[in-house]
Amino acid sequence: MTTNDITSVAPVVRKAADGSVIPAVKAVQVHKAFGPLHVLKGIDLTVMPGTVTVILGPSGSGKSTFLRLINQLETLTGGSIEVDGELIGYKHVTKNGQDMLQTLDDKEIAAQRSRLGMVFQRFNLFPHMTALENVMEAPIHVQHQSKKAARDLAVAELQRVGLGDRTDYYPSQLSGGQQQRVAIARALAMKPEIMLFDEPTSALDPELVGEVLNVMRSLAKEGMTMVCVTHEIGFAREVADQIVFMDGGVVVEQGGPDIIDHPTEPRFKDFLQHVL
Ligand code: ADP
Ligand code: MG
Repeated sequence: MTTNDITSVAPVVRKAADGSVIPAVKAVQVHKAFGPLHVLKGIDLTVMPGTVTVILGPSGSGKSTFLRLINQLETLTGGSIEVDGELIGYKHVTKNGQDMLQTLDDKEIAAQRSRLGMVFQRFNLFPHMTALENVMEAPIHVQHQSKKAARDLAVAELQRVGLGDRTDYYPSQLSGGQQQRVAIARALAMKPEIMLFDEPTSALDPELVGEVLNVMRSLAKEGMTMVCVTHEIGFAREVADQIVFMDGGVVVEQGGPDIIDHPTEPRFKDFLQHVL
């Protein structure tokens, strides 16, 4: 097997019985409340396989909450999310001849979550492990791969993110940008079908942002399905297939990358003036 094979991120395209392509993510009227705080107020979003969606919006608008819902780090208050055509958190069962929804157990939720890789603002690498060991950890302990297979994969993923010469470095010996690239390699080693990025460059010094965006750009080019929350407007304009502007828990404006240069909603115009 060549390095290219084990690091392939080509999207899996599934088709429904009618021949239509099943969305990678389909959120319908998603609501989320934390006690009295109603954070998401009816989000609809469809992400097709092999596309890049960029979510923009001011702080507190609910962007992270939305990503966390997709990845089942939070539970829905209302609405539904399907990943690869499968309702998350629930399954259909037949009881007394009736179709009912039953909540999934932890194992079933873990299986659904394994379709998604997530990269956070803070990279949270294990400080006592090398870059290689950080990337090998989950393939060995979660997927029960052999040490040899996990090592080959980890080396390939670190090469992909441009860190083939840093495999034996500890996080403290790496820059923030390098650590974030290790975090991306770590997520990719689990072979997710969809990558969620939550402001992956926001904690980085400005001169280190580019190297992380370059990795994301090349992933997009290889066909990875990605949902990215970022304030990097240049990246959004260049890489996104779909832009979503959220404010106050609703999608205010949505469209192709051209909406960045031709926004129609006043709130989006105002936001762009502040970040550009
Ligand atoms: P964004 O990522 O767009 O900045 P968040 O999704 O992080 O926004 O947060 C949206 C709102 O939800 C904020 O007011 C935040 O304080 C609140 N929030 C997020 N997580 C929780 C939580 N676990 N408990 C209570 N409030 C929360
Ligand atoms: Mg956030």
